[in-house]
Amino acid sequence: MIPVARPCLGEEELEEVRKVFESGWLGMGAWVKKFEDELKDFFNVKHVIAVNTGTSAIHLALVSCGIKQGDEVIVPSLTFAATIQAIVATGASVVFCDVQPDTLNLDPEDVKKRVSSKTKAIVPVHYRGYPCEMDQLKNIAKQHRLRIIEDAAHAFGSKYRGKKIGSFGDVTCFSFDPIKIITCGEGGAIVTNDDDVAIAAEKGRILGINKDTWSRYKHERSWFYDVETIGFRYHMSNINAAIGIVQMKKFPRFLERRLEIVKLYDENLKNINGIKLLKTDYRSMAPFCYIIRAEQRDNLMAYLKKNDIDSGIHYIPNHLQSFFSKYKTSLPITEKIWNEILTLPLYYGLQNEQVLMICDRIKNFYS
Ligand SMILES: *Cc1c(COP(=O)(O)O)cnc(C)c1O
Repeated sequence: MIPVARPCLGEEELEEVRKVFESGWLGMGAWVKKFEDELKDFFNVKHVIAVNTGTSAIHLALVSCGIKQGDEVIVPSLTFAATIQAIVATGASVVFCDVQPDTLNLDPEDVKKRVSSKTKAIVPVHYRGYPCEMDQLKNIAKQHRLRIIEDAAHAFGSKYRGKKIGSFGDVTCFSFDPIKIITCGEGGAIVTNDDDVAIAAEKGRILGINKDTWSRYKHERSWFYDVETIGFRYHMSNINAAIGIVQMKKFPRFLERRLEIVKLYDENLKNINGIKLLKTDYRSMAPFCYIIRAEQRDNLMAYLKKNDIDSGIHYIPNHLQSFFSKYKTSLPITEKIWNEILTLPLYYGLQNEQVLMICDRIKNFYS
């Protein structure tokens, strides 16, 4: 069976993890610091706070921006449940918005309509790695004094108007879970130039404790500390950071190969009656997944499975999930499109012949 995604890890990662074992310090320490420094260089930003998952990055970013009960946060429904749970965990209310049919990113015009006096933040999701309309969102945020906390879990290495996602925003969150373009095993990061948010997030990731964080980085445990704010056990471990450090080095190769694969898909799928391709811009995208809009999606999915090809759905809209039903609202484009979206396999180790075979099966299905 060809999976939808699979990580690419090897001896180099194992070698780096071995060094962590030998150091005797598995928790947050020198490797985490190094990973953060490399991300700082990569994004050219002041602050990177590494955490244990992308979900905790979003939650902690929201808390660090002061988002709390009574506030409203605008977010597309068409995202991973993680984005929504992170908002719910702050106590704030979720305000779902619709997406644009060609990119499946949140629609700034719809966001505008959903702003109220309680709105405190927008959480755009750079779906598939295609950048959201950040200029328009910034204007809305400026006008209503809102924070923008980007869910960039799909967009590591993507660019908006020539600048990397994460390098110019308010607060940006990344995920390094096993299926993302680079992985730490599990991991996440908050990226920002805002000093106050960074200070809050640094304390918040480790139980609200303020002490010499640096001493942790130097393999020393300080026994004297003060708990100053709300906090969580969200810090990244050296084991995960060691994997991430090696994956960072491989990123340029990963990206190049992903671009080759998505172009091969485009080339072979563009003239098939029954499917539509989404809008792309491969000069700026680091493609996280390859999604098509397919007629008879569920039948196609079953047909591919019979042919040993796995495919996926990103995502069942969250406003249709039972736990989020109290935030249910009408989202016509999301509701129409989610029955058509299908995610095809995309990962570094996927071979050209496999891509061509997948395209061939899809052709067969529609003829
Ligand atoms: C992966 C992902 C997350 C959460 O990241 P984890 O590291 O899995 O917690 C959030 N949002 C989106 C869109 C994602 O794809």
